Amino acid sequence: ATPMSIMTATGRGAQAGVLIKNAEALERFEKVDILIVDKTGTLTEGKPKLVAVLPEDGHDEAEVLRLAASLERGSEHPLAEAIVRGAEERSVEMADATDFEAITGKGVKGTVDGHAVALGNAALISDMGLDSGALVETANARRDEGETVMFVVLDGAIAGLVSVADPVKETTPAALKALHDLDFRIIMATGDNERTAKAVAEKLGIDEIRADVLPEDKANIIKELQAQGFKVAMAGDGVNDAPALAQADVGIAMGTGADVAIESAGFTLIKGNLDGIVRARRLVRATMRNIR
Ligand code: ADP
Ligand code: MG
Repeated sequence: ATPMSIMTATGRGAQAGVLIKNAEALERFEKVDILIVDKTGTLTEGKPKLVAVLPEDGHDEAEVLRLAASLERGSEHPLAEAIVRGAEERSVEMADATDFEAITGKGVKGTVDGHAVALGNAALISDMGLDSGALVETANARRDEGETVMFVVLDGAIAGLVSVADPVKETTPAALKALHDLDFRIIMATGDNERTAKAVAEKLGIDEIRADVLPEDKANIIKELQAQGFKVAMAGDGVNDAPALAQADVGIAMGTGADVAIESAGFTLIKGNLDGIVRARRLVRATMRNIR
């Protein structure tokens, strides 16, 4: 009966919006006790919007946004899109940046109008030997609202900050509650900073978070939990998430996410929201009950 039931389950999964790569992934999913979820693009819409531009003394808003957006035109990160779109909407003209460099999990650097410009998180500015100075309180207040704050550095000094908000998907709160009830221990992992991560997690009733996670560390977090004997599933959408999806006992990709994430995963959620995981868990429990 086993192969037949699994084929049926795979077919039912597809009807329920979950593409299941193979029978092994399905069987492993029943035993999963920890579900790690990426924040951006998985719990949230992944379509952040620019909500604030705050210049440091001696700089102005349009200048700070011009520097940030000129650099971000070279990046494909969702945060970059938000900043470029924000500049367009505010009719801020962008320059052509040169020497563009992306620093994974931290930000971007380059030359704009002949000046050295960088844009990114606290880790990036601390790598540059800077601190957020007078802007720290403003930055923290924004983070406590769940926003992602990025600092703009001009010729080695902070010129201001830009802040971006990414709303939670409408389906996320109910799906998380159902997943708790289906016995998953849920951990949110994000490259975003601790303060922003906590604000989002609190709103969603998630009590375990791993913040400031560099892309390569997501897979390591999973390895450590596996070494403690846990079976781990990971849900993510980004190019950055692919190694973690491959490391997990069951990798779960958002169908709306990057192709390499989908290729690395055992499950793909066609609609790109967590409802598919709820249905998959119910389905796999029903299927395995029938087999035994
Ligand atoms: P996540 O795991 O939340 O999808 P990433 O690992 O892609 O996040 O990025 C982590 C952090 O690095 C971001 O929150 C941001 O502060 C910074 N960052 C990454 N890429 C960029 C970029 N293109 N511009 C500005 N900041 C960036
Ligand atoms: Mg992501």
